[in-house]
Amino acid sequence: MYKNDTIYYPQDEMTTFLLPVTTGCSYNKCAFCSMYKDDQYGEVPFSDIEMQLLNGYIYTEKVFLTGADPISIGFDKMKGLLDMIHQYLPYCACVISYASIKNILKYSVEELSILHDAGLRLLYIGFETGRDDILKLMNKGHTVNEAIKQAKKLNEAKIPFNSIIMYGIAGEGESVDNAVATAKMINQFVTNKVITMSLTVFYGTELENMVKRGDFIPPNRKEQLVEIRTLLENLEPKKSMIFDTTHPTNIIKIKGTLPQDKAKLIDKVRNYIKVL
Ligand code: SF4
Repeated sequence: MYKNDTIYYPQDEMTTFLLPVTTGCSYNKCAFCSMYKDDQYGEVPFSDIEMQLLNGYIYTEKVFLTGADPISIGFDKMKGLLDMIHQYLPYCACVISYASIKNILKYSVEELSILHDAGLRLLYIGFETGRDDILKLMNKGHTVNEAIKQAKKLNEAKIPFNSIIMYGIAGEGESVDNAVATAKMINQFVTNKVITMSLTVFYGTELENMVKRGDFIPPNRKEQLVEIRTLLENLEPKKSMIFDTTHPTNIIKIKGTLPQDKAKLIDKVRNYIKVL
């Protein structure tokens, strides 16, 4: 039951009103992910959501929809949900959600624009990498071209989003190439923020099996830092964009705005590499 489930949400949304919308993950096949392995996918009934909203603080300004990918409920339900939030929390100017490339694919630009106007103002999206072979290896369920296309759709619909990428995901000896490809992908759209996570091999995942079989060797710390540096060197955002490695999985915690802080951030990573 969702009331007993572990709730995953971004650290920036710690003080945001959390509204459960889905349980489990509608996909649940990424090789590196253990978050929802034992949970069945399901939608929280609207009557339960309404009850949560009824008990919400009327002056709430931000709502985070919890679930692996709440936009999996589809356009009609998303629109109904956003309208309900507006009805009970009339001062809420920003509804935020995780979203997968696979599910954004199901929405047209027009539908996304309607959701934007109804209050959907920020998405967190797991792009992970800009390499098709690695997306396939990790069974991510989308391609680089699909990711770029969906990101551009969101740009057109004016829905801002944060891009989550995972360094180390390409394995030993592949980090520089992965960073270049990932930067190349990100350079093709406008994103609010690039949030990095370090690849972690979680117990019970397909990735753990791959490591045990010797089919995948994670890069060492130095290679991972070189990957972050290479990513920074190759990012050329069309609009100013935050670069943020402060998520707890990261081996270095830096945050700044690109392009103006680029040299400073690269220097910080370089200095860190030197003392290893
Ligand atoms: S990474 Fe996201 S989409 Fe993939 S299995 Fe985990 S929760 Fe689902």
